[in-house]
Amino acid sequence: MAEGRCMKCKKNVEIKNAQEVVMKNGMKALKGVCAACGTKVFRIVGKA
Ligand SMILES: [Zn+2]
Repeated sequence: MAEGRCMKCKKNVEIKNAQEVVMKNGMKALKGVCAACGTKVFRIVGKA
């Protein structure tokens, strides 16, 4: 289970449908939606 900080809930939440993505700057991130409210949640996990 992946966790990220939801801007709307203002706390760490479970990231639903989490997908690992690599950004242009070479950083790896998890992208998904907040399990509680459905807002997009984005979490940087480190260098790719
Ligand atoms: Zn939320």
